[in-house]
Amino acid sequence: MSEGPARAPDRVYCAYVFDLDGTVYLGDELLPGAKRLIEGLRAGGRAVRFVSNNATQDPEQYADKLSGLGLETSVEEVVSSIVVTTRWLLDNAPDAVVFAIGEEPLQRALGEAGIRMSSDPAEIDVVIASYDRSFHYRKLQIAFDAIWFHRRARLIATNPDRFCPLPDGRGEPDCAAITAAIEACTGARAEQVLGKPSSAVLDAALDGLGLDAEDCMMVGDRLSTDIRMGLDAGMATALVLTGDTKLDDLEQSDPHDRPHFVVQRIDELVPEGLWAELDPERSGAA
Ligand SMILES: [Mg+2]
Repeated sequence: MSEGPARAPDRVYCAYVFDLDGTVYLGDELLPGAKRLIEGLRAGGRAVRFVSNNATQDPEQYADKLSGLGLETSVEEVVSSIVVTTRWLLDNAPDAVVFAIGEEPLQRALGEAGIRMSSDPAEIDVVIASYDRSFHYRKLQIAFDAIWFHRRARLIATNPDRFCPLPDGRGEPDCAAITAAIEACTGARAEQVLGKPSSAVLDAALDGLGLDAEDCMMVGDRLSTDIRMGLDAGMATALVLTGDTKLDDLEQSDPHDRPHFVVQRIDELVPEGLWAELDPERSGAA
């Protein structure tokens, strides 16, 4: 095996993109060191962003959850797959008529972005597959008619996840199940699967910051999504061992998904000797 990842970075980056579950919190509790790290980074003028693949929750809900856990967070700091999907449509198919198989927060965000929505298969240009706990046969029929019968609609998916883990160890079928149902009957393939590890997530998260990828760090608990995405973007990557990936998994993982850094606690991402750099008085940062 090649040389293993370094434990902790030797610099402070300009921006940090954090996965949420297993990285910043677990269920309904902040993970040890999360508040110290994130508040320290902000105090030192570093940009902080949170990313999630869950399309049933909008940024307001995540910001409220984080604030409720004691980590004050603004909506602008959160990029969920709802944000990524809305942005993709505005950039790539701004005039499209859209049929979204997804829950209310997704429908609301698309409507607020001025995207035209329809359930008439004869006028649908884009079908969006998403995590939808009110999925039923009629929605599948509309997608089928728009894609197969009328031969006009493109298919995209909000995220690639097969299931969404629940705190009790169970799970719920996620977007991949809906995407597969549409692909199975139409023979179409989703031309875009947004959410991590798509580069569209980091494009949205880092938009407007004007930073080079090598000055930004991606932090997460999953190798094939969080870490893969950061590596593909040319960012520094750090795995925290507080979630999905254990040290054993790391040793057996695909060498192409290995992070630059591995830490037990998230606040180890700033080594003790570098915390002074985050002091606003000393660094002069806003
Ligand atoms: Mg996670």
